[in-house]
Amino acid sequence: MLEIKNLQASINNKTILKGLNLTIKPGELHAMMGPNGSGKSTLAHVLSGKNGYEISGEINFRGENLKKVPVEERAQKGIFLAFQYPLEIPGVNTNNFLKTSLNSILKSKGEKELDTLAFLKLVREKSSELGIDEKILSRQLNVGFSGGEKKKNEILQMKILNPSLSILDETDSGLDIDALKIVAKGVNSSRNDKKSFLVITHYQRLLDYIKPDFVHVLSEGKIIRTGCGELAEELEKTGYKKLN
Ligand code: ADP
Ligand code: MG
Repeated sequence: MLEIKNLQASINNKTILKGLNLTIKPGELHAMMGPNGSGKSTLAHVLSGKNGYEISGEINFRGENLKKVPVEERAQKGIFLAFQYPLEIPGVNTNNFLKTSLNSILKSKGEKELDTLAFLKLVREKSSELGIDEKILSRQLNVGFSGGEKKKNEILQMKILNPSLSILDETDSGLDIDALKIVAKGVNSSRNDKKSFLVITHYQRLLDYIKPDFVHVLSEGKIIRTGCGELAEELEKTGYKKLN
């Protein structure tokens, strides 16, 4: 699904990722942990195709080099990124935004686009599955949403857009336990042998609800440890310092 080889990324003359290698196969869920400033969000941004980074190395998504693929096309190809700090976009209705995104994905796959009624039916179905109040979607995108509402909204977007690779950047931070469970439910109910996930998280807490196949520790732009779920538990006890 995703193969990253010797990825280096710099911005404003600062090198953040310093030779990162990562392979995620279909059906796998990888957790990326690591201290503040280790480059976790930068990795998510680079994968999503955000502008401004100088990049070397290789990123292959389903066998295709992503280097020249712009942001919107990455979404169409099935990459979804839930941001650590979701943007507030005044004047943009959340439902319209989602419908446009979904239809551009369907169109690029040569599938039939959804009309408003069919779209609203899908939204209703997915929000009730997750236990999210669908009223949130009639508001302007992320404007005045609480931290938890933004994250729940992102998970609902993920369910609706149905990507093959979902990258969640600290989707668990600042969530109360009920919202955390909604996020976990959204991920767990989407898991199957064709979909892959990269879950970036600071704390082991989310991994009590989402069981990763692999856990990586990022430090100063490199993966310094890879293990299974137990590595996250070990980190919770010892902290990141011991690994350096
Ligand atoms: P993490 O998500 O692991 O906390 P980030 O990827 O956000 O880390 O940041 C990694 C490092 O790169 C930090 O030291 C941060 O200050 C720096 N950094 C991130 N974005 C920029 C930028 N646009 N310009 C300069 N430095 C940046
Ligand atoms: Mg971050």
